[in-house]
Amino acid sequence: MKHFLDRISEKTARILALCFLAGGILLLAAALWINFGGLGSSTTLTTYAMGSYVQQTVYGKGREEAAKQASSAVTELENLISWRVEDSDVQRLNQAAGTEFLEIDQRTWNVLSTALQVCQASGGAFDVTIAPISWLWDFDQDPHLPSGDLIQSLLPAVDYENVSLLEDGTAALQTHDTAMDLGAVGKGAACDAAVEVYQELGVDQAVVSVGGSVGVWGEKSSGSPWRIALRDPDSQGSLGELDILTGFLSTSGSYEKQFTQDGVTYHHILDPDTGYPAESGLVSVTVWSGSGVLSDALSTACFVLGMEDSLPLLEQFDSGAVFITQDHEIYVTENLADGFTLDSDQYTLAGTL
Ligand code: ADP
Ligand code: MG
Repeated sequence: MKHFLDRISEKTARILALCFLAGGILLLAAALWINFGGLGSSTTLTTYAMGSYVQQTVYGKGREEAAKQASSAVTELENLISWRVEDSDVQRLNQAAGTEFLEIDQRTWNVLSTALQVCQASGGAFDVTIAPISWLWDFDQDPHLPSGDLIQSLLPAVDYENVSLLEDGTAALQTHDTAMDLGAVGKGAACDAAVEVYQELGVDQAVVSVGGSVGVWGEKSSGSPWRIALRDPDSQGSLGELDILTGFLSTSGSYEKQFTQDGVTYHHILDPDTGYPAESGLVSVTVWSGSGVLSDALSTACFVLGMEDSLPLLEQFDSGAVFITQDHEIYVTENLADGFTLDSDQYTLAGTL
């Protein structure tokens, strides 16, 4: 560029520079128009909760207040359902395991109620009482391979049927060794909590993402869908997009948390039948559902079940999924197929289910 400019007059160089600048601005404007067609001014807010960034983009009147309130709602929910938080409902239930029924917050009750439905419908592939085993592997703080004997001795405690949730707003864990870990639904539940705030405050549109879960609220005036990027399991980038008009997406991927020991890679999505990382031939499952908790619970359940066994489960909950296999093949359920675009040549779109 410098040599080129050396050979032309200063005036011509200035005109050229202005042209490049104008062209750049036009391109940028076009890109923004394509991405955000039909939307007004927005507020973005990034906070941290549930071990992840909570990213919001909110449009319309009252958007700043809504973003702040949604962020608080997510933190409040974390303080109710995280087993790590002192005095949370889940921690109290774990401590009182095998003793008595406790009164729990309505929000905890709602999350548990949906989660338990998925435990049952998935035949325990998703199990909220995975805690004794997930604590053993400790993927968050000190990931390591536990002894087989220890896994076998704790496995009988993993049984969602030990959780009692009563209509009077109380809950209990029926045996001493039962403990709950709602890590597989927390982020989806957080998206539900944020969207409830957007709805209450009547903002025009909003998108919230918490870790691997995303929720959208409101329709664009152009009627065009929300375009959500899907993570490429092999890189930090995306492999394609999913267009959705409403609802929630959650992804469970084995690449999220893993470690390798003696040449074997272990990841954090566990098979409650074996106590070891699920081996279903998948590297990631993204589930669309009408609720965040549901999409998050189902993404974990589908990862454990594998593609074929997931289909009746997804149908039962009016949901859909994008499956990525270890062989770099992508399968999309029929109800999401029209909205899916593959951008990467590292994967093949192998079929519609
Ligand atoms: P992420 O936490 O990365 O979003 P998931 O939603 O799939 O991924 O949840 C995985 C977490 O859920 C694990 O870290 C563990 O705490 C818990 N978990 C692992 N396996 C199961 C399972 N089969 N059922 C329920 N919870 C699980
Ligand atoms: Mg999940």
